[in-house]
Amino acid sequence: MPMQVLLATSNPHKLEEVAAILGDIGIEVVGLDVLDETPPEPVEDAASFEGNARLKAVGYARMTGRRCLADDSGLEVDALGGTPGIHSARYAGIGDTRAERDAANNAKLIEAMHAVPDGERSARFVCCMCLADPDGTIVAEARGTFDGTIARAPAGEHGFGYDPLLLLPEGMSSAELIPDEKNRRSHRAEAARMLVEQLSRRIEP
Ligand code: IMP
Repeated sequence: MPMQVLLATSNPHKLEEVAAILGDIGIEVVGLDVLDETPPEPVEDAASFEGNARLKAVGYARMTGRRCLADDSGLEVDALGGTPGIHSARYAGIGDTRAERDAANNAKLIEAMHAVPDGERSARFVCCMCLADPDGTIVAEARGTFDGTIARAPAGEHGFGYDPLLLLPEGMSSAELIPDEKNRRSHRAEAARMLVEQLSRRIEP
């Protein structure tokens, strides 16, 4: 029987990406919408991506009685000392909808990077994943990255968040990649692959 995991996220884009990545290797990913009652979101108050992923995975696994996968992700910009980092989702601090928050975050980032020269615009998406069992045991943990530079203007229609501003080495933005390609190359894909490797090592000693 395929392993089923509950992905602890309210972000439909993440659910789509993670379900596509893990679905390819036979792990069925379901979202919080399969639950009769949505449990309260644990407060993400850890100081790192790893800490927040753990907190969410263990919190949701305990509350739902299911094996839960959680991720915490964001953008680290070297010229800005690694920010927005764990505060990526609410970097600009405004916007009622996800689309409004994304637009405000991107506008703030373009402004913050305005005076930064071309050679100093390196950045990366980071994704930490944690898989936990209902008794609080951490089954596997992994970190993936997706490297690029910060563009001076947004480009591309796919993806979400800062995708239009992460310029990849080939000169396209992450939002210009077709979803299948982003799913193969992204920080989330790398973390998911590493997580699966850990699981399979455990199953085949
Ligand atoms: P989280 O939901 O707390 O993990 O927040 C992640 C935030 O980081 C998102 O709201 C985006 O702003 C940003 N982010 C994470 N992954 C991506 C990605 O794949 N593309 C674009 N932005 C991302």
